[in-house]
Amino acid sequence: MSILVTGGAGYIGSHVVKTLLNKFDVITLDNLNKGYEKAVLGGRLIKGDLGDKKLLKKIFENNNIEAVIHLAADSLVGESMKNPAKYYHNNLDKSIKLLEMMVEYNIKNIVFSSTAAVYGEPQKIPITEEHPICPSNPYGESKYFFEKVMERYDKIFDLKYISLRYFNAAGADPAGEIGEDHKPETHLIPLILDVALNKREKIFIFGTDYSTRDGTCVRDYIHVNDLATAHLLALRALMQGKESSIYNLGNGQGYTVREVIETVRRVTNRNIIAEKAKRRPGDPARLIASSQKIKEELNWSANLPDLDTIIETAWHWHKKGGFDKK
Ligand code: UDP
Repeated sequence: MSILVTGGAGYIGSHVVKTLLNKFDVITLDNLNKGYEKAVLGGRLIKGDLGDKKLLKKIFENNNIEAVIHLAADSLVGESMKNPAKYYHNNLDKSIKLLEMMVEYNIKNIVFSSTAAVYGEPQKIPITEEHPICPSNPYGESKYFFEKVMERYDKIFDLKYISLRYFNAAGADPAGEIGEDHKPETHLIPLILDVALNKREKIFIFGTDYSTRDGTCVRDYIHVNDLATAHLLALRALMQGKESSIYNLGNGQGYTVREVIETVRRVTNRNIIAEKAKRRPGDPARLIASSQKIKEELNWSANLPDLDTIIETAWHWHKKGGFDKK
């Protein structure tokens, strides 16, 4: 029996694949638009797009797939505001094709990579799964729409799902073989690390007039391996007959942009030039998760909750130069 991981060559996907190896037979499907062949540390990698129906059919026909972990997606908020069709098409249409294939081959379990972006501007902190849904961009909306599709497929076809709503994924596998390497990079921690490595001159702080303790945005950074572990727990729970569920995944602790910069300074011992800049459109002031539900129901807990440790693992990876140097 195999587990199909879509998007398994990406940042989070590659950490998920590593976590599954030695426990399951893993098949990764990735178009390698954003992912890296070298990031897939084991199992089988099939290069191809989720939208390729013939390929999908071949994969389901030729393998004994027991469950799917679905991470393949576009995930840039800014891009989704400029090109919404790309997000509805790639994240929703193609995901529905995957579900259709699962129905055809009678595969009942899917773990889905969702996002805190489904909530939009929070009304209450920490954010629980009951918080009203109001995505402020097509990215978050495409993920939410697919959650609704899965809910419907559960009712009609008894297809069970666990949707994991990630907060800010960060860090790298401490073994140093895989990590974050986006091109172009837009995320805060890797950008600050680029400044530490003199690859960038400075970090721009997007907004210093938010109503937070130092005026900059607060985010909940969670180590990518802790996210990966949650996928394993979710998969096992579904295999043991658990009902469909949705879980937030964060550390429950928020750090401002300035605090993250300060932590990078401390961890790397390098000079980091930071400059005030305009707010980035669509950025909520504070995003902090309540992960109480997944703790209680799946017995999940963060192994690497400390921001210093998260940044240390990212620093260790970044100093090696990413996948180009591997
Ligand atoms: N941010 C920033 N400068 C940058 C990149 C990000 O100030 O060059 C801020 C951004 O506005 C947000 C936080 O850092 O408040 C985290 O942003 P990131 O893009 O890493 O993740 P997001 O919260 O958008 O998922």
